[in-house]
Order: sequence, then structure tokens, then C-alpha cells
Amino acid sequence: MNADLHCHSTASDGLLKPDELAERARNRGIDLLALTDHDGVSALAAMRVAAESRGIGFVDGVEISACWGAIGIHVLGLGIDPQHAGLVAGLQGIRDSRAGRARAMGESLAKAGIDGALEGAMAYAGNPSLLSRTHFARFLVQAGHANDVKNVFQRYLVEGKPGYVEHQWARLEDAVNWIRDSGGQAVVAHPGRYGLTEAEMREFLGTFKDLGGAGIEVVSGAHTPDQNGDFAVWARQFGFLGSRGSDFHGPGESKVDLGKVMALPAGIEPVWNVLMEKAADRVPHPPHSATVLA
Ligand code: AMP
Ligand code: MN
Ligand code: MN
Ligand code: MN
Repeated sequence: MNADLHCHSTASDGLLKPDELAERARNRGIDLLALTDHDGVSALAAMRVAAESRGIGFVDGVEISACWGAIGIHVLGLGIDPQHAGLVAGLQGIRDSRAGRARAMGESLAKAGIDGALEGAMAYAGNPSLLSRTHFARFLVQAGHANDVKNVFQRYLVEGKPGYVEHQWARLEDAVNWIRDSGGQAVVAHPGRYGLTEAEMREFLGTFKDLGGAGIEVVSGAHTPDQNGDFAVWARQFGFLGSRGSDFHGPGESKVDLGKVMALPAGIEPVWNVLMEKAADRVPHPPHSATVLA
């Protein structure tokens, strides 16, 4: 089973549209795909059609920007209901807050001598209501301030650098509740990316579990192979479901392609087992007459 449960489209900071993502997923032999745009669900309906028409199983997803104390954490919602009112309102609140942050980033970069960054970033945003650091990064590269997106983050867009602005994201408990209330599984995205010490990780995972978190992304395109192994151990310790995702954003930009991450290590229940059971429950059984006619 080649499941890739983490990627982005032009509805957030990805470079491909649903049809292009689905075509790529088919060419990479993906059986089950989740689209997990940052803080929004606007591309899910089109993505489902694009995936299913190519025989690829599809899971409605989202990647919610949240805070655990002062630490930014991304929480994947897998198998959500994209129309659930509480989830929709929560995501809208986060997107609204991104607009003010983007203005502040533009002002901060102007002080550092870079003009027109907000307008420049907007030109790269497929969805004007979702401006991310990635869009600023693409503008800064094009304007010649760094030679690639990775470099530009290190120089301009991480804590302590001119284009970095502190931001209050959703509370971790709210993110988990929106996901659960809409019928989804809350999964910590790329847990190796937060720079937590072992003690902090233990505390964080305990809190996430207590809040109703279901799993962690054991295998991630944002992890080293060693980290994938480490998080397999954490998942077993905490009894978390395990997820697997490339975090693909686009060709040329992401070093890991769709589906090209290692298999989920043994001894961990894959989150897709639960997702597929739920999906099967939701599909109405064919009427009896259809069976007779067939
Ligand atoms: P934001 O949610 O606006 O803070 O932007 C976060 C996004 O920036 C992530 O989802 C990644 O796509 C991208 N990103 C964060 N850190 C880096 C990095 N060091 N190199 C490349 N992309 C990054
Ligand atoms: Mn991103
Ligand atoms: Mn993320
Ligand atoms: Mn992501």
C-alpha cells in the first residue's frame, strides 16, 4: 500500500493544481492520497474527483497551524468533513490572521531594505486568502536575494531574521477538537521538525494524546531516515497510529517526491486502516435490485 497522506496544492503553498497532483500521484503508483493544504479545505472537492477518476483512493485532509505554548506545531486532520461548521470557522480564523502577519512581514523586510515584498509574495499566491512564508520565499529568490527557497528561509524567514514575525496560531487543543468534531484523526505533522528535546517531546506527545490526538507522522519527507526510526519508537511507546507523508510542495522545490518516502516501520498501526474503515462505513451499500440486475 503506497499511502501518501501529506501534500500541498496551489490552494496553499504548493505549486500544482489538483489535476496535476493526481496525475503525478498516479505516475508514482500511489494508492491512497490525502491533500493537506495549510489551514484550508478549498481544493478538497476538486482533488477528490481528480484522484478518484484515476483510481486513487482519496482522504480529505488539512494541515492546521497551531501553537503549543510558544512553539508552532502543525497538526494534520485526516478524514475530516470539509463542511463541518466548527472546522470551517476555525480555519477561516487562522487564514484571516495570516493577512495581518503578511503585512507585518512586508514591513519588516522593507526595514531591511527589501521593498515590495508583500505585493511580490501575493503574485505567487494561488489563493489570495492564504499567504505563507513560502510565497515570500519565492518572491525573494526571484528578486535575487538568495539562490533557492531553502537558502532564503535561513537568511530571511526564520526566527531572528528580518522577515520573521512572531505569530499566534490556533491553540493546540482547538486544532485537535475541530478535527475530531468533524470526524477526523488528529495527527502530529513531521514531529522531528520542532527542535524539541527528548523531555519536551515526551511532554508534548503526552499532552497531544490527552487532548485526543490519534497519531503521529512517523515517516515524513521532512525527516531524516533516523528520525523516521525514532518516531516509530515514540509511536509504539504512546500507542499512536502511524502516518506516512512526503509533504510534497512541488517539483524542483521539494526534495522528496510524492510517495517517495520509506515504508511505515513494522509494529505500528497505520492511520489509513482506521481511515479506510470509516470510509467504508460511510459508503451506502448498493441497493439489492442493483445486485440482481448485475
Ligand atoms: P508559514 O505557515 O507561513 O509559516 O509557512 C510555513 C511553510 O514554509 C512550511 O509549510 C514550508 O512549506 C515552508 N518552510 C518552512 N521552513 C522551511 C525551510 N527551512 N525551507 C523551506 N521551506 C520551509
Ligand atoms: Mn508548506
Ligand atoms: Mn508543516
Ligand atoms: Mn505540509
